Amino acid sequence: MHAIRFHGHGGPEVLRYEEVPDPGIGPGEALVRVRACALNHLDLHQRRGLQRVTIPLPHIPGSDVAGEVVAAAGDGMEAGQRVMLQPGLSCGRCAACLSGRDNECPRYDILGYRSDGGYAELVKVPLQNLIPLPPSIGFIEAAAFPLTFVTAWHMLVTRARVQPGEDVLVLAAGSGVGQAAIQVAKLHGARVFATAGSSRKLDLARQLGAHEVINHHEQDFADEIRRLTNRRGVDVVIEHVGEATWSASMRCLAAGGRLVTCGATTGPSAAIDLRFLFSRQLSVLGSYMGTKGELLAATRFFVGGSLKPVVDAAVPLAQAAEAHRRLEEGRQFGKIVLEC
Ligand SMILES: [Zn+2]
Repeated sequence: MHAIRFHGHGGPEVLRYEEVPDPGIGPGEALVRVRACALNHLDLHQRRGLQRVTIPLPHIPGSDVAGEVVAAAGDGMEAGQRVMLQPGLSCGRCAACLSGRDNECPRYDILGYRSDGGYAELVKVPLQNLIPLPPSIGFIEAAAFPLTFVTAWHMLVTRARVQPGEDVLVLAAGSGVGQAAIQVAKLHGARVFATAGSSRKLDLARQLGAHEVINHHEQDFADEIRRLTNRRGVDVVIEHVGEATWSASMRCLAAGGRLVTCGATTGPSAAIDLRFLFSRQLSVLGSYMGTKGELLAATRFFVGGSLKPVVDAAVPLAQAAEAHRRLEEGRQFGKIVLEC
């Protein structure tokens, strides 16, 4: 098959389009013909190289996949079945998995992280990772859905327990998590504030349902949130930017507010004023991916039409390096998808 692989870490130029052996499947696994695979920031981190995680080389990235089943070594799935893939891999046997908290499994992994992923014509996955797609959903939008929407769902619904009528601030509306979080918050009856760095992105955030938008290059977003909420602040902040925005994000919280973070794109160190934390009864919540059950819950709204992943661009698989550059420079609004 053809695939994009890297043999060493570095810039986008290490991504090579090449001929590689087809993956073989064992019991309980399926082989899927990839039709579309979306990019995630994870792809950039692993390509550059990580301090605490060793990526097996050569490596095929890609966590968000839609395609057709070629072969399934088990029951329940016919060849040709259109599917999208659960990006979370877990053992299925431990207490966390059996309690429905599979993203807390000690063996938890993400498709394409330490295993070979979907920047390829074929990918293998456990049978339980197959999610059937109705004919109304295209491969490109399906590939753009799983990782960011399960992440946003876990952050807002499970961790922050967002309530109807609450105010939610979503940072970086143009990011994959940002566009998903605006939609999931709206779906749960929240009023959404969003930040972005250009007027085009702010317009798109408004179209997705953001009530107020803030240009974070032109305005101090914490001051702006306090002004827009009559100094009250917001109930939930969706954080994934990290060091650059952390202090301002904390300042946006209303009494009883929850800050949820799933990333640290600009750096991992952040300070907390403990007096502010206890006196205003704030919560700081970590969030990592989401469970298989949460993805299936979100998928019902995707199939029903009330959650729609925003696709920034779809490009051929062979142009993965160009696609990485676009994501790295933050030029996108929504998901960049590779077609194969
Ligand atoms: Zn487990």
